[in-house]
Amino acid sequence: MNSWITAIFTTTYPFTLPVLEYPYSSLEPHIDTATMTIHHQKHHQAYINNLNAGLEKHPEFQAKTLKWLVANWQSLPDSLKNIVRNHGGGHLNHIFFWQILSPNAQKPSQDLQKKIMKDFGSLENFKALFNKAAVSVFGSGWAWLCVDNAGKLIITATANQENPLTDGLFPILGLDVWEHAYYLKYQNVRAAYIDAFWNIIAWDRVEDLLKQH
Ligand code: MN
Repeated sequence: MNSWITAIFTTTYPFTLPVLEYPYSSLEPHIDTATMTIHHQKHHQAYINNLNAGLEKHPEFQAKTLKWLVANWQSLPDSLKNIVRNHGGGHLNHIFFWQILSPNAQKPSQDLQKKIMKDFGSLENFKALFNKAAVSVFGSGWAWLCVDNAGKLIITATANQENPLTDGLFPILGLDVWEHAYYLKYQNVRAAYIDAFWNIIAWDRVEDLLKQH
């Protein structure tokens, strides 16, 4: 397994904020420096702090991986359930998001393009469907490209900090559409932020995740 994928899915309590592999300014002009800084240092850190505080009172779950916790939050005790749903999901979603962004423009490989064309008809159709899912999230949430159990690519959206793993889907691309992810630069124009996202996707990592599934 690629080490960065292992790091995302096998991390355990106490959780810590990962160091980004690129400077906050490096996604300009698509995501601005101030948004990246606050998003990583304040929003992401808050999910980690709240998740750690919840698990501190539940030593019986401290050895569970973040992936297991998020996939199984519904089976947890009531006093931990919503903490993991919101803050465990928040931590996992953000670690994932930082990893699938890249300051260097990339295109999907030929293999990945073929897979996308097989499951969506064309790259343009895939992009249109993903954009529609992202723009249609009411309130806060995420849009995802996932692999289902049959190996087929599907586009989904989740509310708040829920993750497709809970529904038995394996995410390979995700876009944070909470207002905190774009409001400083794009204000109410979420669609412009979604368009900009296509310029900063680490397609090599999306493909690594697809192979991992
Ligand atoms: Mn966020």
